[in-house]
Amino acid sequence: MPITRDDCLHLDARDALAPLREAFELPEGVVYLDGHALGALPRGATARALEVVRREGAEGPVGTDPGAGGIAPPRRLGDRLAPFIGAGPGEVLVTDAASPGLPRLLGAMLRLRNGRRRAIVAERDNFPAGLHAAQGRVRGLRQAHELRLVDTPADLPAALDDDAAVLLLTHVDRRSGALHDMAALTQLAHARGALALWDVAHSAGVLPLDLPGTGADAAVGCTCKYLNGGPGAPAFLWLAPRRHGEPGLSPPGGWGHAEAFAEPLEQPHTGSGRFPCGAQDLISQTLVECGLAVFERTDLARIRAKSLALTDLFIALVEQRCAAHPLTLLTPREHARRGGQVSWRHPEGHAVMRALIDRGVIGDGRGPGLLRFGFAPLYTRFIDVWDAVQALCAVLDGGEWREERFRTRWAVT
Ligand SMILES: *Cc1c(COP(=O)(O)O)cnc(C)c1O
Repeated sequence: MPITRDDCLHLDARDALAPLREAFELPEGVVYLDGHALGALPRGATARALEVVRREGAEGPVGTDPGAGGIAPPRRLGDRLAPFIGAGPGEVLVTDAASPGLPRLLGAMLRLRNGRRRAIVAERDNFPAGLHAAQGRVRGLRQAHELRLVDTPADLPAALDDDAAVLLLTHVDRRSGALHDMAALTQLAHARGALALWDVAHSAGVLPLDLPGTGADAAVGCTCKYLNGGPGAPAFLWLAPRRHGEPGLSPPGGWGHAEAFAEPLEQPHTGSGRFPCGAQDLISQTLVECGLAVFERTDLARIRAKSLALTDLFIALVEQRCAAHPLTLLTPREHARRGGQVSWRHPEGHAVMRALIDRGVIGDGRGPGLLRFGFAPLYTRFIDVWDAVQALCAVLDGGEWREERFRTRWAVT
């Protein structure tokens, strides 16, 4: 039986998460399928940001919240975010962006391996920020490290030899949307004597995570994506509690001491609290709270169930309606191996995505011929999936993507 528009309306009517869509500012007439890159803005977030600017501007940080500029919010937000990744209080820090956070965590991991092992093992398709952090290490002054890239997960066992110091992986492949088995790969790394550092930017907020339960050593993630912390929202850093206080952790950042305003060589914070680097962007930190507040009205098991239902529907509808076109599904069909997005390859993927965006269906690309669609369960409806596939059919059937205006390349789609 082919799926109909009414089927989609039915699914929305029965969806327990449907009322949460109201919590976001979504433009009229747009199907927003890019929440895996930049989440929708929670309602009230701009007003909160303005309030922070006015309050801080008028009263200054002193007299309101001691240490408001740098110390308290990253730790307080970290505690609030901790349940999203299965962590406890004091384990997570919300700070800076992922790109500066990754080298800090990687440095900590390498130091914990005491410089005796040289190789950082990663996938070639890893998110670039991780690879850049690793390259920074490798090309550093002492050139003591080696970046070892594999093409597929099947090559990881061979790469994790007795020179491997750290396994650095992106939990959800940014191109295909395939989900790694974090527990199994962490176990493999440990069995080979390496530590496991995970990038969970594309999984936090769309599926339940239990980082301590997988045995991972450290992780980095973003709040600007499924967590809806707003544009340029900070990253979060997690250090496994069993690693807290280990001698050899890298030196602390600017606000990374146990006591605020400690002398430079005083006692560093023993856990993730050592990682901030100076005063933080208070406005962005405030927006993170607005995003997290919406999640606190539901739970991640429900969010994951809806995410799988949305992506199942999308795959089925595209196969039902667009079978005549050269689209190749890159995303695993198996639930256990799928993240929150669905990716297809089309020989003219960039132009197809440009034509879709012109029709008000916002997805993205990231690579030759790639069409990436993210389904943020808090605000994506089943009818949005139907409408997106309608638009995709129209673009492909009518050959709209051939128009000259869609053929110039954007730097980022
Ligand atoms: C978006 C993303 C990042 C972001 O890095 P920033 O420095 O915060 O821009 C890192 N890793 C992954 C896997 C991502 O998807």
